[in-house]
Amino acid sequence: MKTFDWIIVGGGLAGSALSYELAKVGFSVLLLEDSPVPSNGTRYSYGGIAYWSGSTDLTKQLCQEGIAIHHHLSSELGADTQFREMNLLLMIDADRDPEAIVRQYQQFPITPALLTPDAAVEAEPLLNPEAIAAALLLPHGHVSPEATVKAYNQAFLRAGGTMQVAPVTGLIQMGDRVQGVTTPTQTYEGANVAICAGGLSRSLLNNVGISTRLYFTQAEIIETLPVEVQLQTIVMPAELKRFEMEATAGSIEHDALWDQPGHEVVAPVLDIGAIQFQDGSLRIGQVSRTLTDPQAQADAAASECELRQTVGHFLPALKQLPGQWSSCLVSFSGDRLPLVGQLAAVEGLYLFSGFSNPFAVLPPVARRFAQSAMGQPDEPDILLAQLSPNRLIP
Ligand SMILES: Cc1cc2nc3c(=O)[nH]c(=O)nc-3n(C[C@H](O)[C@H](O)[C@H](O)COP(=O)(O)OP(=O)(O)OC[C@H]3O[C@@H](n4cnc5c(N)ncnc54)[C@H](O)[C@@H]3O)c2cc1C
Repeated sequence: MKTFDWIIVGGGLAGSALSYELAKVGFSVLLLEDSPVPSNGTRYSYGGIAYWSGSTDLTKQLCQEGIAIHHHLSSELGADTQFREMNLLLMIDADRDPEAIVRQYQQFPITPALLTPDAAVEAEPLLNPEAIAAALLLPHGHVSPEATVKAYNQAFLRAGGTMQVAPVTGLIQMGDRVQGVTTPTQTYEGANVAICAGGLSRSLLNNVGISTRLYFTQAEIIETLPVEVQLQTIVMPAELKRFEMEATAGSIEHDALWDQPGHEVVAPVLDIGAIQFQDGSLRIGQVSRTLTDPQAQADAAASECELRQTVGHFLPALKQLPGQWSSCLVSFSGDRLPLVGQLAAVEGLYLFSGFSNPFAVLPPVARRFAQSAMGQPDEPDILLAQLSPNRLIP
Protein backbone atom coordinates (compact mmCIF):
# COMPACT_ATOMS: atom_id res chain seq x y z
CA MET A 1 0.00 0.00 0.00
CA LYS A 2 1.23 3.51 -0.84
CA THR A 3 2.37 5.62 2.10
CA PHE A 4 1.52 9.28 1.51
CA ASP A 5 3.75 12.01 2.91
CA TRP A 6 0.62 13.84 4.04
CA ILE A 7 -3.02 12.91 4.54
CA ILE A 8 -5.35 15.92 4.78
CA VAL A 9 -8.73 15.38 6.44
CA GLY A 10 -11.45 17.78 5.23
CA GLY A 11 -11.89 19.57 1.92
CA GLY A 12 -13.16 23.04 2.87
CA LEU A 13 -11.00 26.10 2.33
CA ALA A 14 -8.45 24.88 4.91
CA GLY A 15 -7.94 21.37 3.53
CA SER A 16 -8.04 22.51 -0.09
CA ALA A 17 -5.45 25.26 0.36
CA LEU A 18 -3.19 23.13 2.54
CA SER A 19 -3.30 20.05 0.29
CA TYR A 20 -2.47 22.20 -2.75
CA GLU A 21 0.46 23.95 -1.06
CA LEU A 22 1.92 20.66 0.19
CA ALA A 23 1.59 19.01 -3.25
CA LYS A 24 3.09 22.11 -4.89
CA VAL A 25 6.34 21.77 -2.92
CA GLY A 26 6.63 18.10 -3.89
CA PHE A 27 4.97 16.01 -1.18
CA SER A 28 2.68 13.09 -2.05
CA VAL A 29 -0.68 14.15 -0.61
CA LEU A 30 -4.07 12.48 -0.11
CA LEU A 31 -7.08 14.74 0.52
CA LEU A 32 -10.02 12.97 2.15
CA GLU A 33 -13.38 14.78 2.21
CA ASP A 34 -16.47 13.29 3.78
CA SER A 35 -19.00 14.54 1.26
CA PRO A 36 -19.12 14.76 -2.56
CA VAL A 37 -21.01 18.08 -2.16
CA PRO A 38 -19.88 19.46 1.21
CA SER A 39 -22.40 21.54 3.12
CA ASN A 40 -19.63 23.12 5.14
CA GLY A 41 -18.59 26.53 6.51
CA THR A 42 -16.81 27.37 3.28
CA ARG A 43 -19.88 26.59 1.15
CA TYR A 44 -22.05 29.15 2.98
CA SER A 45 -19.37 31.78 3.54
CA TYR A 46 -19.53 35.35 2.23
CA GLY A 47 -15.96 34.98 0.93
CA GLY A 48 -14.90 38.41 2.20
CA ILE A 49 -11.16 39.13 2.52
CA ALA A 50 -10.68 41.46 5.49
CA TYR A 51 -7.07 42.28 4.66
CA TRP A 52 -7.36 45.62 6.48
CA SER A 53 -8.03 43.93 9.82
CA GLY A 54 -4.62 42.93 11.20
CA SER A 55 -4.17 44.36 14.68
CA THR A 56 -0.84 42.80 15.73
CA ASP A 57 2.47 42.38 13.88
CA LEU A 58 1.50 38.75 13.26
CA THR A 59 -1.98 39.37 11.85
CA LYS A 60 -0.89 42.48 9.91
CA GLN A 61 1.80 40.46 8.17
CA LEU A 62 -0.58 37.58 7.39
CA CYS A 63 -3.21 39.98 6.01
CA GLN A 64 -0.62 41.61 3.75
CA GLU A 65 0.62 38.25 2.51
CA GLY A 66 -2.98 37.07 2.07
CA ILE A 67 -4.15 39.89 -0.17
CA ALA A 68 -0.93 39.64 -2.21
CA ILE A 69 -1.65 35.93 -2.80
CA HIS A 70 -5.28 36.61 -3.80
CA HIS A 71 -4.17 39.08 -6.46
CA HIS A 72 -2.32 36.26 -8.26
CA LEU A 73 -4.20 33.17 -7.11
CA SER A 74 -6.42 32.75 -10.18
CA SER A 75 -3.45 32.80 -12.51
CA GLU A 76 -1.39 30.56 -10.23
CA LEU A 77 -4.19 27.98 -9.92
CA GLY A 78 -5.26 28.28 -13.55
CA ALA A 79 -8.91 28.92 -12.67
CA ASP A 80 -10.91 32.01 -11.71
CA THR A 81 -11.51 32.49 -7.96
CA GLN A 82 -13.70 35.52 -8.89
CA PHE A 83 -11.39 37.78 -6.87
CA ARG A 84 -12.37 41.45 -6.83
CA GLU A 85 -11.84 44.49 -4.64
CA MET A 86 -15.08 45.88 -3.25
CA ASN A 87 -16.28 48.19 -0.51
CA LEU A 88 -17.27 46.89 2.90
CA LEU A 89 -19.98 48.96 4.55
CA LEU A 90 -20.16 48.52 8.31
CA MET A 91 -23.43 49.70 9.83
CA ILE A 92 -23.52 51.46 13.19
CA ASP A 93 -26.86 50.93 14.95
CA ALA A 94 -29.06 54.00 15.47
CA ASP A 95 -28.57 53.93 19.27
CA ARG A 96 -24.76 53.67 19.18
CA ASP A 97 -22.04 56.37 19.33
CA PRO A 98 -20.21 56.46 15.95
CA GLU A 99 -17.16 58.29 17.34
CA ALA A 100 -16.58 55.64 20.00
CA ILE A 101 -16.89 52.87 17.41
CA VAL A 102 -14.63 54.51 14.83
CA ARG A 103 -11.96 54.79 17.56
CA GLN A 104 -11.96 50.98 17.89
CA TYR A 105 -10.97 50.79 14.21
CA GLN A 106 -7.93 53.04 14.66
CA GLN A 107 -5.85 49.96 15.60
CA PHE A 108 -5.95 48.70 12.00
CA PRO A 109 -3.42 49.69 9.32
CA ILE A 110 -6.24 50.76 6.99
CA THR A 111 -8.74 52.92 8.82
CA PRO A 112 -12.33 53.39 7.69
CA ALA A 113 -14.12 56.50 6.44
CA LEU A 114 -16.95 57.53 8.77
CA LEU A 115 -20.12 58.17 6.75
CA THR A 116 -23.32 59.96 7.72
CA PRO A 117 -26.50 57.97 7.00
CA ASP A 118 -27.03 59.97 3.78
CA ALA A 119 -23.47 59.37 2.61
CA ALA A 120 -23.90 55.68 3.50
CA VAL A 121 -26.94 55.50 1.20
CA GLU A 122 -24.85 56.95 -1.62
CA ALA A 123 -22.40 54.08 -1.13
CA GLU A 124 -25.16 51.49 -0.64
CA PRO A 125 -28.52 52.62 -2.10
CA LEU A 126 -30.39 49.64 -0.59
CA LEU A 127 -29.62 50.83 2.95
CA ASN A 128 -32.35 52.28 5.21
CA PRO A 129 -30.70 55.49 6.54
CA GLU A 130 -33.09 55.62 9.52
CA ALA A 131 -31.80 52.31 10.84
CA ILE A 132 -28.26 53.59 11.39
CA ALA A 133 -26.44 56.36 13.27
CA ALA A 134 -23.58 56.21 10.74
CA ALA A 135 -21.54 53.72 8.74
CA LEU A 136 -17.89 52.90 8.16
CA LEU A 137 -16.48 52.27 4.71
CA LEU A 138 -13.42 50.10 4.12
CA PRO A 139 -11.73 48.49 1.12
CA HIS A 140 -12.28 44.73 1.22
CA GLY A 141 -11.47 41.81 -1.03
CA HIS A 142 -13.91 39.20 -2.24
CA VAL A 143 -13.82 35.76 -3.84
CA SER A 144 -16.37 33.07 -4.56
CA PRO A 145 -15.70 30.45 -1.84
CA GLU A 146 -16.84 27.59 -4.10
CA ALA A 147 -14.77 28.80 -7.06
CA THR A 148 -11.71 29.20 -4.82
CA VAL A 149 -11.96 25.67 -3.42
CA LYS A 150 -12.56 24.27 -6.91
CA ALA A 151 -9.51 26.14 -8.23
CA TYR A 152 -7.33 24.85 -5.37
CA ASN A 153 -8.61 21.27 -5.92
CA GLN A 154 -7.96 21.31 -9.67
CA ALA A 155 -4.45 22.68 -9.19
CA PHE A 156 -3.86 20.08 -6.44
CA LEU A 157 -4.79 17.24 -8.83
CA ARG A 158 -2.57 18.70 -11.54
CA ALA A 159 0.30 18.80 -9.03
CA GLY A 160 -0.11 15.04 -8.55
CA GLY A 161 -2.40 15.03 -5.49
CA THR A 162 -5.00 12.31 -4.80
CA MET A 163 -8.55 13.10 -3.70
CA GLN A 164 -11.05 10.62 -2.24
CA VAL A 165 -14.56 11.09 -0.89
CA ALA A 166 -14.74 9.22 2.42
CA PRO A 167 -15.25 10.07 6.09
CA VAL A 168 -12.20 9.60 8.27
CA THR A 169 -13.24 7.56 11.29
CA GLY A 170 -9.97 7.05 13.15
CA LEU A 171 -6.21 7.25 13.23
CA ILE A 172 -3.69 4.49 12.82
CA GLN A 173 -0.98 4.91 15.44
CA MET A 174 2.21 3.11 16.34
CA GLY A 175 3.10 4.17 19.87
CA ASP A 176 2.87 7.95 19.93
CA ARG A 177 3.41 8.31 16.15
CA VAL A 178 0.59 8.60 13.59
CA GLN A 179 0.76 6.19 10.66
CA GLY A 180 -2.41 6.91 8.74
CA VAL A 181 -6.18 7.07 8.96
CA THR A 182 -9.16 4.76 8.70
CA THR A 183 -12.45 5.21 6.83
CA PRO A 184 -15.40 2.78 7.03
CA THR A 185 -14.01 0.77 4.11
CA GLN A 186 -10.27 1.49 3.87
CA THR A 187 -7.10 2.32 5.67
CA TYR A 188 -4.68 4.88 4.24
CA GLU A 189 -1.06 5.10 5.33
CA GLY A 190 0.55 8.48 5.80
CA ALA A 191 3.67 9.80 7.51
CA ASN A 192 1.76 12.92 8.59
CA VAL A 193 -1.94 13.69 9.04
CA ALA A 194 -3.45 17.20 9.11
CA ILE A 195 -6.95 17.65 10.52
CA CYS A 196 -8.81 20.33 8.54
CA ALA A 197 -12.31 19.14 9.47
CA GLY A 198 -13.65 22.59 10.45
CA GLY A 199 -16.33 22.40 13.15
CA LEU A 200 -15.99 18.61 13.31
CA SER A 201 -12.25 18.68 14.09
CA ARG A 202 -12.85 18.72 17.84
CA SER A 203 -15.10 15.65 17.90
CA LEU A 204 -12.87 13.77 15.43
CA LEU A 205 -9.86 14.33 17.68
CA ASN A 206 -11.88 13.61 20.84
CA ASN A 207 -12.83 10.24 19.36
CA VAL A 208 -9.16 9.31 19.29
CA GLY A 209 -8.55 10.64 22.79
CA ILE A 210 -7.02 14.03 21.93
CA SER A 211 -8.33 17.26 23.48
CA THR A 212 -8.08 20.59 21.68
CA ARG A 213 -9.19 24.13 22.47
CA LEU A 214 -11.16 24.30 19.22
CA TYR A 215 -14.89 25.09 19.22
CA PHE A 216 -17.63 25.70 16.68
CA THR A 217 -20.70 27.76 16.01
CA GLN A 218 -23.78 26.74 14.07
CA ALA A 219 -24.14 29.54 11.50
CA GLU A 220 -27.52 30.12 9.84
CA ILE A 221 -28.11 32.03 6.62
CA ILE A 222 -30.56 32.56 3.77
CA GLU A 223 -29.29 32.10 0.23
CA THR A 224 -31.16 33.41 -2.82
CA LEU A 225 -30.99 32.48 -6.48
CA PRO A 226 -29.67 35.24 -8.78
CA VAL A 227 -31.91 38.31 -8.28
CA GLU A 228 -32.36 41.67 -10.03
CA VAL A 229 -31.82 43.71 -6.87
CA GLN A 230 -28.25 45.10 -6.90
CA LEU A 231 -26.24 45.29 -3.68
CA GLN A 232 -23.18 47.51 -4.25
CA THR A 233 -21.18 46.66 -1.14
CA ILE A 234 -20.68 43.87 1.41
CA VAL A 235 -22.84 44.96 4.33
CA MET A 236 -22.06 43.95 7.91
CA PRO A 237 -22.39 45.42 11.41
CA ALA A 238 -19.53 47.58 12.70
CA GLU A 239 -19.80 45.78 16.05
CA LEU A 240 -19.76 42.02 15.44
CA LYS A 241 -21.40 40.21 18.35
CA ARG A 242 -19.91 36.93 17.14
CA PHE A 243 -16.38 37.84 18.27
CA GLU A 244 -17.51 38.52 21.84
CA MET A 245 -19.55 35.32 21.80
CA GLU A 246 -16.52 33.32 20.65
CA ALA A 247 -14.26 34.84 23.32
CA THR A 248 -16.70 33.82 26.06
CA ALA A 249 -17.68 30.42 24.66
CA GLY A 250 -14.03 29.62 23.94
CA SER A 251 -12.74 30.48 27.41
CA ILE A 252 -11.12 27.80 29.55
CA GLU A 253 -14.03 27.95 32.04
CA HIS A 254 -16.40 26.70 29.36
CA ASP A 255 -14.07 24.15 27.80
CA ALA A 256 -15.45 21.05 29.58
CA LEU A 257 -19.01 21.87 28.45
CA TRP A 258 -17.99 21.36 24.83
CA ASP A 259 -17.44 17.65 25.42
CA GLN A 260 -21.02 17.14 26.63
CA PRO A 261 -23.70 17.28 23.91
CA GLY A 262 -26.91 19.11 24.81
CA HIS A 263 -25.51 22.43 26.07
CA GLU A 264 -25.83 25.91 24.64
CA VAL A 265 -22.68 27.56 25.95
CA VAL A 266 -23.77 31.20 25.51
CA ALA A 267 -26.89 32.87 24.09
CA PRO A 268 -27.18 33.01 20.26
CA VAL A 269 -26.33 36.21 18.38
CA LEU A 270 -27.45 37.72 15.10
CA ASP A 271 -24.96 39.78 13.08
CA ILE A 272 -26.91 40.89 10.05
CA GLY A 273 -24.91 40.89 6.84
CA ALA A 274 -25.41 40.54 3.10
CA ILE A 275 -23.25 39.89 0.07
CA GLN A 276 -24.15 39.55 -3.60
CA PHE A 277 -22.03 37.23 -5.73
CA GLN A 278 -21.06 37.86 -9.33
CA ASP A 279 -23.90 35.59 -10.56
CA GLY A 280 -26.43 37.84 -8.76
CA SER A 281 -27.22 35.42 -5.89
CA LEU A 282 -27.19 36.72 -2.32
CA ARG A 283 -26.18 35.32 1.05
CA ILE A 284 -27.93 36.95 3.99
CA GLY A 285 -26.65 36.02 7.42
CA GLN A 286 -26.02 35.22 10.10
CA VAL A 287 -27.31 33.71 13.30
CA SER A 288 -24.54 32.05 15.35
CA ARG A 289 -25.19 29.48 18.07
CA THR A 290 -22.85 27.64 20.41
CA LEU A 291 -24.67 24.29 20.66
CA THR A 292 -22.24 21.64 21.87
CA ASP A 293 -23.81 18.91 19.74
CA PRO A 294 -22.49 19.37 16.19
CA GLN A 295 -25.56 17.55 14.85
CA ALA A 296 -28.05 19.80 16.73
CA GLN A 297 -30.97 21.00 14.60
CA ALA A 298 -32.04 24.65 14.79
CA ASP A 299 -35.65 25.83 14.44
CA ALA A 300 -35.30 26.77 10.77
CA ALA A 301 -38.61 28.65 10.49
CA ALA A 302 -37.90 30.83 13.55
CA SER A 303 -34.33 31.49 12.44
CA GLU A 304 -35.41 32.45 8.90
CA CYS A 305 -38.10 34.75 10.29
CA GLU A 306 -35.58 36.52 12.56
CA LEU A 307 -33.08 36.91 9.69
CA ARG A 308 -35.77 38.36 7.40
CA GLN A 309 -37.09 40.77 10.06
CA THR A 310 -33.63 42.10 10.83
CA VAL A 311 -32.37 42.38 7.28
CA GLY A 312 -35.66 44.11 6.40
CA HIS A 313 -34.89 46.78 8.99
CA PHE A 314 -31.50 47.64 7.48
CA LEU A 315 -31.91 46.58 3.82
CA PRO A 316 -35.69 46.55 3.17
CA ALA A 317 -35.41 45.34 -0.45
CA LEU A 318 -33.91 42.04 0.72
CA LYS A 319 -36.60 41.12 3.26
CA GLN A 320 -38.97 39.17 0.99
CA LEU A 321 -36.59 37.78 -1.61
CA PRO A 322 -37.24 34.07 -2.13
CA GLY A 323 -34.41 32.10 -0.62
CA GLN A 324 -33.29 28.90 1.03
CA TRP A 325 -32.39 28.80 4.74
CA SER A 326 -29.31 26.70 5.59
CA SER A 327 -26.98 26.07 8.49
CA CYS A 328 -23.37 24.92 8.79
CA LEU A 329 -20.59 24.62 11.34
CA VAL A 330 -17.78 27.19 11.66
CA SER A 331 -14.77 26.44 13.87
CA PHE A 332 -13.13 29.03 16.13
CA SER A 333 -10.53 29.32 18.88
CA GLY A 334 -10.85 31.38 22.05
CA ASP A 335 -8.19 33.94 21.05
CA ARG A 336 -9.15 34.56 17.40
CA LEU A 337 -5.93 32.99 16.12
CA PRO A 338 -6.10 29.67 14.27
CA LEU A 339 -4.80 26.41 15.71
CA VAL A 340 -2.07 25.40 13.28
CA GLY A 341 0.69 22.94 13.97
CA GLN A 342 1.61 19.61 15.47
CA LEU A 343 -0.52 18.33 18.33
CA ALA A 344 1.67 17.59 21.32
CA ALA A 345 0.07 14.21 22.01
CA VAL A 346 0.93 12.44 18.73
CA GLU A 347 3.97 12.83 16.50
CA GLY A 348 3.03 13.55 12.88
CA LEU A 349 -0.53 14.67 13.75
CA TYR A 350 -1.33 18.29 12.91
CA LEU A 351 -4.31 20.58 13.34
CA PHE A 352 -5.15 23.30 10.80
CA SER A 353 -8.41 24.94 11.79
CA GLY A 354 -10.15 27.67 13.82
CA PHE A 355 -9.38 30.65 11.54
CA SER A 356 -11.42 33.76 12.38
CA ASN A 357 -10.41 35.59 9.17
CA PRO A 358 -9.70 32.66 6.88
CA PHE A 359 -10.08 34.15 3.42
CA ALA A 360 -7.42 36.73 4.33
CA VAL A 361 -4.94 34.70 6.38
CA LEU A 362 -5.43 31.04 5.51
CA PRO A 363 -3.71 31.09 2.08
CA PRO A 364 -0.43 32.50 3.47
CA VAL A 365 -0.55 30.22 6.53
CA ALA A 366 -1.03 27.18 4.26
CA ARG A 367 1.90 28.34 2.11
CA ARG A 368 4.16 28.86 5.13
CA PHE A 369 3.08 25.51 6.58
CA ALA A 370 4.15 23.69 3.38
CA GLN A 371 7.45 25.59 3.17
CA SER A 372 8.13 24.84 6.81
CA ALA A 373 7.33 21.14 6.25
CA MET A 374 9.93 21.14 3.45
CA GLY A 375 12.53 22.99 5.48
CA GLN A 376 14.67 22.08 8.42
CA PRO A 377 12.69 21.03 11.52
CA ASP A 378 15.30 22.77 13.69
CA GLU A 379 14.55 26.09 11.96
CA PRO A 380 10.80 26.46 12.50
CA ASP A 381 8.85 29.33 10.95
CA ILE A 382 8.70 31.88 13.80
CA LEU A 383 5.37 33.20 12.62
CA LEU A 384 3.79 29.74 12.43
CA ALA A 385 5.12 28.87 15.87
CA GLN A 386 2.80 31.54 17.32
CA LEU A 387 -0.21 29.62 15.99
CA SER A 388 0.67 26.30 17.62
CA PRO A 389 -2.43 24.52 19.00
CA ASN A 390 -0.41 23.76 22.13
CA ARG A 391 -0.31 27.47 23.09
CA LEU A 392 -3.79 27.21 24.63
CA ILE A 393 -3.23 24.06 26.65
CA PRO A 394 -3.02 25.16 30.30
C1 LIG B 1 -22.37 32.91 6.74
C2 LIG B 1 -20.87 32.88 6.83
C3 LIG B 1 -20.13 33.95 6.37
C4 LIG B 1 -18.75 33.92 6.44
N1 LIG B 1 -18.07 34.98 5.92
C5 LIG B 1 -16.73 34.97 5.92
C6 LIG B 1 -16.01 36.01 5.28
O1 LIG B 1 -16.58 36.93 4.71
N2 LIG B 1 -14.66 35.96 5.32
C7 LIG B 1 -13.98 34.94 5.93
O2 LIG B 1 -12.75 34.96 5.94
N3 LIG B 1 -14.65 33.92 6.53
C8 LIG B 1 -16.00 33.90 6.53
N4 LIG B 1 -16.68 32.86 7.10
C9 LIG B 1 -15.92 31.80 7.77
C10 LIG B 1 -15.29 30.84 6.80
O3 LIG B 1 -16.13 30.59 5.72
C11 LIG B 1 -14.97 29.50 7.47
O4 LIG B 1 -14.31 29.72 8.67
C12 LIG B 1 -14.04 28.66 6.59
O5 LIG B 1 -14.54 28.55 5.29
C13 LIG B 1 -13.87 27.31 7.22
O6 LIG B 1 -13.10 26.50 6.37
P1 LIG B 1 -12.62 25.08 6.89
O7 LIG B 1 -12.01 24.39 5.75
O8 LIG B 1 -11.82 25.24 8.14
O9 LIG B 1 -13.95 24.33 7.35
P2 LIG B 1 -15.19 23.79 6.46
O10 LIG B 1 -15.42 24.63 5.28
O11 LIG B 1 -16.29 23.60 7.42
O12 LIG B 1 -14.65 22.40 5.94
C14 LIG B 1 -14.43 21.30 6.77
C15 LIG B 1 -14.60 20.06 5.92
O13 LIG B 1 -14.19 18.91 6.65
C16 LIG B 1 -15.01 17.82 6.26
N5 LIG B 1 -14.94 16.82 7.30
C17 LIG B 1 -15.36 16.92 8.58
N6 LIG B 1 -15.14 15.76 9.23
C18 LIG B 1 -14.55 14.92 8.34
C19 LIG B 1 -14.09 13.58 8.42
N7 LIG B 1 -14.18 12.87 9.56
N8 LIG B 1 -13.57 13.02 7.31
C20 LIG B 1 -13.48 13.71 6.15
N9 LIG B 1 -13.89 15.00 6.02
C21 LIG B 1 -14.43 15.58 7.11
C22 LIG B 1 -16.39 18.45 6.13
O14 LIG B 1 -17.24 17.67 5.31
C23 LIG B 1 -16.06 19.80 5.52
O15 LIG B 1 -16.16 19.79 4.13
C24 LIG B 1 -18.07 32.82 7.01
C25 LIG B 1 -18.80 31.72 7.45
C26 LIG B 1 -20.19 31.73 7.35
C27 LIG B 1 -20.94 30.53 7.78
